[in-house]
Amino acid sequence: MKVHNFNAGPSILPNEVLYKASKALIDFEGSGMSILEIGHRTPLFQAVLDEARNLVKELMQLDDDFEVLYLHGGATTQFMQVPLNFLENDGTASYIDTGVWSNKAIKEAKQYGFVDVAASSKDSQYNHIPKQFNISPKSSYLHITTNNTIYGTQWQKIPDVDVPLIADMSSDILSRPMDFNKFTLIYAGAQKNMGAAGTTLVAVRKSALGKVTRKIPTILDYRNHIENGSMLNTPPVFAIYISMLTLRWLKEQGGAAAMEVENEKKANLLYNEIDQNPLFRGTTVKEDRSRMNISFIMDKPELEEEFLKFCKKEDIVGIKGHRIVGGFRASLYNALPYESVEVLVEAMKYFSLKKA
Ligand SMILES: *Cc1c(COP(=O)(O)O)cnc(C)c1O
Repeated sequence: MKVHNFNAGPSILPNEVLYKASKALIDFEGSGMSILEIGHRTPLFQAVLDEARNLVKELMQLDDDFEVLYLHGGATTQFMQVPLNFLENDGTASYIDTGVWSNKAIKEAKQYGFVDVAASSKDSQYNHIPKQFNISPKSSYLHITTNNTIYGTQWQKIPDVDVPLIADMSSDILSRPMDFNKFTLIYAGAQKNMGAAGTTLVAVRKSALGKVTRKIPTILDYRNHIENGSMLNTPPVFAIYISMLTLRWLKEQGGAAAMEVENEKKANLLYNEIDQNPLFRGTTVKEDRSRMNISFIMDKPELEEEFLKFCKKEDIVGIKGHRIVGGFRASLYNALPYESVEVLVEAMKYFSLKKA
């Protein structure tokens, strides 16, 4: 291992993915060409795209109504593309506001129709997931952010609602089993739990499309991507290849169920230390704690810089908190080994003893 990489995104990838990809950069599958040099409409790349899309369907156990697309533009483009395809000018969509990313989604949706913010945890600095809300049956859809990367909260139970459910799963996709078939559309930037930056996964129900009357630009209409097998234009070839390798690795580990076991072990280890160590304190309510992004602070903020320096010496990377929340944030994505969390916990113990 190189360092203990707790980066929030882009983030750690499995070593074997990096190794395989490095070979493909020079000679892809014995073709005499780099993966960066092959045509996207060749059998060589078609096999990669097919395998990636099939692995998503298999690992998420999606029913046959779903189409899996690998698009450009990041999750941020989905903030706009979702309302463009699902929300009429005079229609209403419901959103639950659980932090920075849901806010950005709300802001975009307001450009296309009415937004009903059905619940928000803003008044308590987004330290929890709202439990009480009513969704109007007239709503075109309900949008949630399943894991809040910046504040460190996560929906533990996906709500049952009578309107189509749409989710931003950028930072916890395939980190746990879930009834993905409850959703109408799921999107996730690949760079946190399923690959490298440069492509965004969209899984969408075919039967839900084509219901708005507005004109949709060609590249932003999901139906065109479906018709063209996720190859409407040149796809992000290398990013899709990395995602395919990451999904292959995930399947070898035992899929989302095995990930959940590991992720719980890792998160419990770190949360236990945060709760026991007198120097550190969690920032979210316990019942909504994220297993992916763990945010914590110190009661003596003047020691924060020193702790960061100490961690750096121990090869612990990427634990500085987001500028909005401050303190620390450790991201424990699927590819992060348990051993890295052990090293971080040891560092916290040692630092705390030194300062006692
Ligand atoms: C990182 C992140 C985004 C932004 O993704 P981009 O691919 O950079 O657009 C959106 N939503 C969530 C929950 C995220 O964690």
